[in-house]
This record gives sequence, structure tokens and C-alpha cells, in this order.
Amino acid sequence: MTISEKVAYLKGLAEGLDLDTTKSKEGKLISVMIGILEELAMSVEDLEENALNLGEEIDVLSDDLADVEEVVFDEDEDAEDYDDDWFEVECPTCGADIVVDDEALADGEVECPGCGTRYAMELTDDEDEESEDAEEPEE
Ligand SMILES: [Zn+2]
Repeated sequence: MTISEKVAYLKGLAEGLDLDTTKSKEGKLISVMIGILEELAMSVEDLEENALNLGEEIDVLSDDLADVEEVVFDEDEDAEDYDDDWFEVECPTCGADIVVDDEALADGEVECPGCGTRYAMELTDDEDEESEDAEEPEE
């Protein structure tokens, strides 16, 4: 039973008493009290509805903010880490993302941030094989 329904029930009870609400002081008192209760019930239900709507709007705003944070965070990360060319590979040992950037290529190896395993870069194999076939160096 909502507050409005309870007030309506109370109003029905009062009407069942056949109170004289114009000449009887008691009848007038009860009539005014029920009128106030009706207004209070409507106000409370409006407030409850507003509170629910606000909660839903906050949820939507919260989701939107999360999207914005994702974009801003990613852009900042790109600005800091982006270096002519870099890419990520998955660590075969632990599955963490390893960033391979110019520095790693220059060092010839990368270290997994997840498990610390070091991997040698062998990116020039294809070129070497081709040049070996063409030049056939003597020893
Ligand atoms: Zn790893």
C-alpha cells in the first residue's frame, strides 16, 4: 500500500462516519487533516519519483564519464608512449602485453613487464636470408 492509498483508505473511513465538515468542529478538523495528508502523500511520491529519476540520470552520467575517461586516458598514454612506430606482442610465458618500441628494437631485446622474461628481437632474419642468397659471402 502506498502512502496515497493509505490516505485514500483513511478518507473513506472518515466519509463513512458521515461527519459534518462545515458545522462540527471535529468534522472540520478531520477534513482539514485528511486534506493535508493527501498533499503530503503527493509531495512524498513526487520526491520519491524525482529521486529515482536522478539516480538513473547519475548512472547514465557515470557511464558517459567512464567513456570520456577512457578516451582521455588512452590519448594521454598515446602522447607519452607513441614513438614513430611501436606495437604490442603477447608474452608466450604469462600472456602480458609487451610493448616493442624503437628502444627495444635498438637494444635487440625486450623484457616482459609481467614475468620479467627477456626476449631477443629477430626482426632482420628475412632480409639476411635474402642477402645471403644474393651475395653468397665467402669465409
Ligand atoms: Zn611474461
